[in-house]
Amino acid sequence: MYRPHPFSWVPAEGQRHATTDPKPRHGYHGVTVRTLCSKEVTADNSDIGWLWPTCRPCNTRAHELAGVPEAGDGAD
Ligand SMILES: [Zn+2]
Repeated sequence: MYRPHPFSWVPAEGQRHATTDPKPRHGYHGVTVRTLCSKEVTADNSDIGWLWPTCRPCNTRAHELAGVPEAGDGAD
């Protein structure tokens, strides 16, 4: 499967986190992953999971990994 960036988005515990853990063949659902914000969470790939807000630290790290500046509040 083509992955443009070395991380994936994983809904868990009410937020959408990003992880660099390899995606299991059956997907992340029910799988415990280490997120870019250094938490260990169990993925919840339910329909509503994708509507949760993006985890801020994960979003920042994901942009760094992708080499893309974060849009919006230009901190620096
Ligand atoms: Zn996170």
